[in-house]
Amino acid sequence: MSELTNRPAVDSPLAQAEVQRLLPRVPYIATWSGEPPVRTQVVRTNWPARIAYADEVPHDRDGRGVLWRRALLQPGRGKPQFGLVHPLRQRHAMRRLLCQVCGSSADRTEQGVLWLLGDDRGDWADWPEEMAATHPPVCLPCAHAAVRLCPYLRRKFVAVRVRRPEVSGVHGRLYEAFGAATKASGDVIVRFSDPAINWVQAFELVMCLRECTFVDLEAELTQLRSDG
Ligand SMILES: [Zn+2]
Repeated sequence: MSELTNRPAVDSPLAQAEVQRLLPRVPYIATWSGEPPVRTQVVRTNWPARIAYADEVPHDRDGRGVLWRRALLQPGRGKPQFGLVHPLRQRHAMRRLLCQVCGSSADRTEQGVLWLLGDDRGDWADWPEEMAATHPPVCLPCAHAAVRLCPYLRRKFVAVRVRRPEVSGVHGRLYEAFGAATKASGDVIVRFSDPAINWVQAFELVMCLRECTFVDLEAELTQLRSDG
């Protein structure tokens, strides 16, 4: 759902005004040019057998021991790099269930936490049950504004409530042993329970979506307004 990290297209001055009112200037999980990639040397260790940084420090790994891509934290500095997800803010938003657009709490009802997903209903019978999501959830105003004001999103995305989201793994770069060194062999999604997790440099937290229900955003917002 990287399209959500771009500003939605607007088709009228009124719509544009509403986007300005409802959405922040730059999505919370977007990277800024003042947060350029940090160069690191990935090495391998034999005990334990895994990848590491040559100059590794304790906060390079999370509580599970997963190695994370280093990133500067300077939101607002430089220009927004739309479509480039910031690893620390993505991780924070997933763990805390924050809106990927504005960074406030994602919307939650009895049916669960709100996600906007690319419409892949043909992928499997009970899609998106057990889906590995790499994008954090959304709040209702951001979801509504993005979908209603952007024809592309309206056609391509569905709103889903997730009653049992569970952080299940990471999206990252897989490394393999190359003599005494390492070499990158591609980007993968790996569960925490998979031994391959020791050979991945993570850049996004993955959420497994369970007990999902499709919802009608327009109906939910109408209900919210009538309740309020
Ligand atoms: Zn929001």
